[in-house]
Formats: sequence, C-alpha cells, structure tokens
Amino acid sequence: MSNWFQHRRKKLLSGLLLSAVLLLAACTKEAEPYTMEDFAKVEKIDAHVHAHADHPAFLEQALADNFRLFTINVDYPDFPPIEEQQRVAVKFLQEYPGRIAYSSTFHMAGWDDPAWQEQVIRHLDSAFAGGAIAVKVWKNIGMDFRDQAGNLVMIDDPKFDPIFAHLREKNILLVGHQGEPKNCWLPIEEMTVNNDKEYFKNHPQYHMYLHPEFPSYEDQMSARDRMLEKNQELRFMGAHLASLEWSVDELAKFLDRFPKAVVDLAARMGQVQYQSQRDREKVRSFFIKYQDRLLYATDLTHAPDSDPEQFKQEVHEKWLTDWKYLNTAEMMSAPEVDGEFEGLALPKKVIDKMYRINAEKIFPGAFAAR
Ligand SMILES: [Zn+2]
Repeated sequence: MSNWFQHRRKKLLSGLLLSAVLLLAACTKEAEPYTMEDFAKVEKIDAHVHAHADHPAFLEQALADNFRLFTINVDYPDFPPIEEQQRVAVKFLQEYPGRIAYSSTFHMAGWDDPAWQEQVIRHLDSAFAGGAIAVKVWKNIGMDFRDQAGNLVMIDDPKFDPIFAHLREKNILLVGHQGEPKNCWLPIEEMTVNNDKEYFKNHPQYHMYLHPEFPSYEDQMSARDRMLEKNQELRFMGAHLASLEWSVDELAKFLDRFPKAVVDLAARMGQVQYQSQRDREKVRSFFIKYQDRLLYATDLTHAPDSDPEQFKQEVHEKWLTDWKYLNTAEMMSAPEVDGEFEGLALPKKVIDKMYRINAEKIFPGAFAAR
C-alpha cells in the first residue's frame, strides 16, 4: 500500500471517528435535561391562570419569562363578576394577540328556570364569538349550588347534557374542576401537604371531613366520571390533576380510562413533590409515560387589588421554582412539603410537551400569532 493511500485511509478513519464522537455528543446533549439558564429561552405556556386585574403586569412578566397564558373565567364569588372577568380577558386578547387565550364559563343562577340551558348556550356562543376557546365548570357544581328543592346539583345531572353536546359539536374544550384535593375529606393530621392543612384549619366550613352530610370524595369523582362516560367525544381538561393529585397511580387509571382527557398541574405541585419525596422514580416514570397528557400550569391569580410589582415577583419566583423541580436533579424544599426532595430532571422532550406542545394541540390556533 502506498504512503499516499495509507495517509488517505488514516484521514478517512479519523474523519469517521470525529463524526461519531460529534453525533454521540449531540445525542447526549439532547437527552440531558434543561438547566436553570435555559428557563428564559424556552417557549412556555402556563395553562391555568386567572388574569383578572385590568393591568398589564401579568402579561409583562409572561413576556419577560417567555410564557404565554391560558386565563380561565370562573363562577366564583371571590373573583370579580363573570362579565368583568370576560371583559378583561377579551381586552388582553386584543392587546396581546397570540400571547393569551381564555376560557369562558357560565352562571348557575337561574338553573330552575326552563330557559336556563338556552340562556347558557346563548351566553357561551357570544363568548366564543369574542374569542373564548373553552368553558370552565367549577366545584360549586357538586359542592355548593343547590336547586330550588334544596338538592346539590352534580356534574352528571342530565340538565347539563344539551350544553355539553353543544360544546362537543363546536369542538370546544371543557375545563372541569370537580371536588377538592382528597385531603379535604381527611382529618387535618392525616393531610399530606401544609397548604391544605392551613387552608382547612382556617376554613372549617369547607373542610368536608367535618361535614359528612355532603357528598364524599368518591361521590364527586364518580359523578365527574359518569359525565365523561356520557360525553366520550367531549374534549376535557381535568383542572388540578383532575382532583386525583394524591396518587399518580389513580391519575394513570383515569388517563387510561378517558383517552381524550388531559390534566393540568395547577396548584398541585406540592402534592407531586410529596409523592416524589417518597418514590421519585415512580413519579418520574409517570411523567414520562403520560408526557402527552399533562399540561404545566400554576393557578396564579392576578387580583384587581394586588400590588403589580409584588405580583410580578411572585409569578417569576413560582415559575422558576417549578422549572427547577421539573428540570434539575437539585435537592430543594417548598413550604407545602416538610423536608427536602430531589428535582425530577425530566428529559427535554417531556418538558417541551408539558410546557408548550400539548397546550398548542389542545388550544389549536389560540397561540398562533407570535
Ligand atoms: Zn384556578
């Protein structure tokens, strides 16, 4: 073999070796999780917030942290009236096109009136015409609202059927928050996370353990499941991990049973951390297995009377802490959970789905303009 030939062969081999090394490095980098430095540059969606203040602070922070928002109107007496929530949402839609999408809702008032369903459908249609892409039903259905005969109205009540059929025809997403965290039905000392202990200690009127005359946790979950059985084709997002926040096993069963359903993580990260503190691998595997069905969300609420600068700070910190937990393997702590726990260090692909791709699929077109 001539020297020239040997030289060529050597060069070719080292070239191949270099390509292999570079390819391997690229693959390893792809498999590596994001870091804290990646937080600002990755495009993200918070799929459950309440932007009720007629002030740009929330949107400004979202722009700064590369977030788009899904704001949800709720029939909740502590929030501004539904009409005001809707006015603010529509205003943001016009001022920040492509940066925010919104879910409408409807009043339960007038339930006993024979024209109630028709009124609700009319109200919803005008909300869709104004840009709403979903409808929220809240826990007042099942836990608070009573008909004229004094009975609690549950979510599988046939009176809702024409409304849900209407959503199905229009391919509109239903966002459902039924029941409460399971802790609500447990004595304080058996509750898992500190925020629930605190809340139910201060609000005994909502602590269902003290009110056995009300429907049980299981009653709430089965009413919701019966509604979904009746409406197989309805697109559904279970808010707050579909109130199955206490067990990734139960949540997995729910997602298997209702293949069209997705769930958001809003205000339940503490419950996830509590479980991962006990079995990190199990929780991490759950996130990987159900990566197409989970939406990152916080439940951050911008109340009209809050201080805008303080709120921006709070929003930024919450988004950063969650990023740290889901992306890194650092040891960390949170006020909701006693003791330390390790971050999940989820793969980039899973993070991109949870933080953006799943939401873009579920709200098609809503975030088109960038
Ligand atoms: Zn909420």
